[in-house]
Amino acid sequence: MIDRTQVGIIGAGPAGLTLALLLKKQGVNCIVLENQSRAYCESRVRAGLLEQNTVDLFNELGIAGRLNKEGLKHEGVIFSFNGERIRVPFEELTHGRSITIYGQQEVVKDLIAANIEKGVPILFGAEVYNIKGIETSPVAFYQQDGIEHQLSCDFVAGCDGFHGISRQTLPADCYKTYSKEYPFSWLGILAHAEPSSDELIYAYHERGFALHSLRSEKVSRLYLQVENGDTIDNWNDEKIWDELAVRLGTKGFTLNRGKIFEKGITPMRSYMIDNMQYGRLFLAGDAAHIVPPTGGKGLNLAVADTRFLAEALVDWYKNESDDQLDAYSANCLRRIWRAQDFSNFMTYLFHKQAEHGSFEYQLQKSRFDYIRLSVAQATTIAENYVGLKAI
Ligand SMILES: Cc1cc2nc3c(=O)[nH]c(=O)nc-3n(C[C@H](O)[C@H](O)[C@H](O)COP(=O)(O)OP(=O)(O)OC[C@H]3O[C@@H](n4cnc5c(N)ncnc54)[C@H](O)[C@@H]3O)c2cc1C
Repeated sequence: MIDRTQVGIIGAGPAGLTLALLLKKQGVNCIVLENQSRAYCESRVRAGLLEQNTVDLFNELGIAGRLNKEGLKHEGVIFSFNGERIRVPFEELTHGRSITIYGQQEVVKDLIAANIEKGVPILFGAEVYNIKGIETSPVAFYQQDGIEHQLSCDFVAGCDGFHGISRQTLPADCYKTYSKEYPFSWLGILAHAEPSSDELIYAYHERGFALHSLRSEKVSRLYLQVENGDTIDNWNDEKIWDELAVRLGTKGFTLNRGKIFEKGITPMRSYMIDNMQYGRLFLAGDAAHIVPPTGGKGLNLAVADTRFLAEALVDWYKNESDDQLDAYSANCLRRIWRAQDFSNFMTYLFHKQAEHGSFEYQLQKSRFDYIRLSVAQATTIAENYVGLKAI
């Protein structure tokens, strides 16, 4: 068992696996410790919207073969307000930038395969239960097959998601927390149903929000706003399809139905800390921030963090400079705040928060009308949606 490496990475999600590849490319050694099995990581259904920057980075890393072939490139998005639809043509408004729909589990499969091919050790079933010495010489303590191990490193990258151990290891007084729970949740389904539209449809309806999305030419991904505390037992398949048909409905639109093979309810939350580093421990991805999924930013932010972290670590190894490491949090936070704002904006634009016809409803309707009336407003939404190039 290897017991020393340059960068110990906790978590084989999009953040940890992308970081490992970026470091390996620059000759920095790392080991990834992941508490779940490979099969579990490769089948975990989550995000599916890749910003232009994420697609560009995966191309730079040489891992976008399947993504470019099987991913569905989208040049616009449809917004619906009580059945009235508008299209935001983001490729036209952002000088050719777009998004690509490609399931997170496919991203993870590609990243794991590339890491293994390049010789990056990924230890599955290895749960990190303690991290010590983060001021100067960190050691990750982990358990695999009931046996305890230690991994000494120059740095630890905490890419272990929202419930991981890394954020808990930061001294509590070294960061401030920002958190917001939304008063609604998302019921999400995956179904063997041909997508009913080539593009995503975000719909405000007086019965609540609905989103039409897709994963392939044969699989649809759809969501409904439900109340916090609602359970999946309250929603049989027919009720889900009927509700989606009402909320997404407009003249001439037919919702394609099919066999639902995955369904679940997820609460909506914004969360972040304002410092992602202490000593030699650096956080990336969901370990440091959560956004409501309405803006499709979670996975993209995770990947964006790793670009800064890899550059900073490589600079330390090659030039013995601390400058980029010191600037890591500040560099990430600009994009994270932008994504928090955009995700919050999209959430409040489309979710039902107050009675139909109330003051809040009229403001929502006016915001929707403004997108239709103003190229400037549509452009603002488009450039946030596809992701700002630099920030
Ligand atoms: C149900 C759900 C639906 C989502 N839907 C969307 C969406 O539609 N759009 C969107 O943009 N985003 C969505 N997200 C968010 C997106 O999936 C995340 O932002 C993304 O996974 C972040 O990647 P990450 O690598 O930072 O964290 P994760 O993907 O969470 O990876 C962290 C990894 O660390 C491992 N780990 C944790 N603790 C330990 C430990 N102690 N030791 C070793 N390993 C550990 C975990 O097993 C996991 O594999 C969703 C998230 C969830 C939970």
